[in-house]
Amino acid sequence: MRFGYHVSVSGNPVSAIVEGVDAGCDTIQFFPGSPQQWGTTPVSEEETAEFAEAKSNSGIDPVVIHSIYLVNMAAPSDGIFKRSVASLASSLAKAEKLGALGVITHVGNHKGEGEDFGLRRIADAVHACLDKSPGDAMLLLETTAGAGTSIGNSFEQFGAVFDMAGRPERLGFCLDTCHVFAAGYDISTTGGVDSALEELDRFVGLDRLRALHMNDSQGECGSHRDRHEHIGRGMIGLDSFAYMVNHEALQGLPAIIELPHEDIGSPDDLGLLRSLQA
Ligand SMILES: [Zn+2]
Ligand SMILES: [Zn+2]
Repeated sequence: MRFGYHVSVSGNPVSAIVEGVDAGCDTIQFFPGSPQQWGTTPVSEEETAEFAEAKSNSGIDPVVIHSIYLVNMAAPSDGIFKRSVASLASSLAKAEKLGALGVITHVGNHKGEGEDFGLRRIADAVHACLDKSPGDAMLLLETTAGAGTSIGNSFEQFGAVFDMAGRPERLGFCLDTCHVFAAGYDISTTGGVDSALEELDRFVGLDRLRALHMNDSQGECGSHRDRHEHIGRGMIGLDSFAYMVNHEALQGLPAIIELPHEDIGSPDDLGLLRSLQA
């Protein structure tokens, strides 16, 4: 498993690599622009070359991009749906340019139109953004905590989206430990981890799992609260993380920690996860 943090980008994307190196990362994740604004910050040819060189010197690999928060692939509104597809396509194009593995995205909310509507809409968005962004960069759909009308809190829903989309090769999956726990998969026990992974394999396929978000959870199992906690300090607990980092099915995956790491006194989540590896 390769560990890293979600890092910030200020201007030139090479700043993400610099922060990743400072924090001792093997892998990093960053936003394609401001997460609260439509539009992807463009990258020049010079910046692309600089990024490639810094990435190769650092050994940081893979790099992943996290889509902006405004994206809603299940949006009933045609306007929001189109903007979401355009945003994902431009993020995928940026990922392609920067040699990133792909773009991780939350799938969104059906806003009362119902689950079937939402799943169909997401499958359509998958097609549309992959069509608009030729290359190898993957689109990785991320599990959600399942609050309100949000979609993506069960592996069965993802299985349905994968099937409806015709399982394109560039479609993958990102498992967030906090989100699946909040959604109701009790991964605080070894048996719970195994049964969650079995269910994921049945509906989506473990071969589609390409990235992990490693966060402990402030909320209880099934609370539908998306509140990240430092590793070992939440309801999932350290024993379960020790089991997961050594789990055969998860070896080789990038594991991104989405918690503050730069503040003075921040716990060393990265060092802790590494120390759990047998
Ligand atoms: Zn996440
Ligand atoms: Zn989250």
